[in-house]
Amino acid sequence: MEERGRTLGLGSLMTFIILALILLFFSIFLIYRSMTAYVQGDLPVSFSYLIFSLMGLILSSYFLMHLKNARLRAAKKVPSVFTMVECLQCGFKNIRSFQKGDYVLKRAEGCPKCSQSMLITSIYAEAEQKP
Ligand SMILES: [Zn+2]
Repeated sequence: MEERGRTLGLGSLMTFIILALILLFFSIFLIYRSMTAYVQGDLPVSFSYLIFSLMGLILSSYFLMHLKNARLRAAKKVPSVFTMVECLQCGFKNIRSFQKGDYVLKRAEGCPKCSQSMLITSIYAEAEQKP
């Protein structure tokens, strides 16, 4: 799973966008050619240009939609890391976001209830939940 996400790097993402844009511009150019052929009365040529341009438009929009989905999936994957701190004196528990230097069994900040120093009991990652 993770390897798959990494293969779609920024470089391949850029080529993907550029390819889709080239296809889009080519389709617009074909529409223009189709219109000029139509004005000149060359209906079969105009029609074939139109077909190709429509295919190009569909393909490029498919590319861009696929790209959008891929980026959404990538954003969804990023997990949030939490640290659970527990007071051994009064049993107070607190979950906060992970801070650099946190490790399990490290002495953490003072307990807000009894002001004894608390202990980090667990560190865990949780994937962001989106419907
Ligand atoms: Zn306490």
